[in-house]
Amino acid sequence: MDSRFRGNDGGGARCYNLRTMTYIVLESCIRCKYTDCVEVCPVDCFHEGPNMLAIDPEECIDCSLCVPECPVEAIVAEDDIPAGSEGMLALNRELAEEWPVISEKKEPPPDADEWAKTPGKLPHLER
Ligand code: SF4
Ligand code: SF4
Repeated sequence: MDSRFRGNDGGGARCYNLRTMTYIVLESCIRCKYTDCVEVCPVDCFHEGPNMLAIDPEECIDCSLCVPECPVEAIVAEDDIPAGSEGMLALNRELAEEWPVISEKKEPPPDADEWAKTPGKLPHLER
């Protein structure tokens, strides 16, 4: 979705940025990847990597439907990114460009529950 439009006030073209807030996936998704979130997203903005999902910030329409679906509370609004995870917005953008869209739920990894409560999983991210 093109999130910008150009207006013309007679004195020349202006560019307005109308992008809504985005939600992002935090590192708690790594090695859990339950994928409950993808089925409710109305605009298919989840992208799937080997062991994590990412949200495309340019596609997210800020509906929040995915938030309660995540069993590990990995999805937050960009305004609520916890301290220490500030880099996750840029990482979601980067990974969403690399990974394909996922819109259907699939089986989680067999050891997903064991990783669900593990902190500091970023070193385990596979790309
Ligand atoms: S439901 Fe949560 S853990 Fe599962 S894929 Fe979505 S964001 Fe990741
Ligand atoms: S907030 Fe809405 S549009 Fe954004 S990822 Fe979640 S379900 Fe999709």
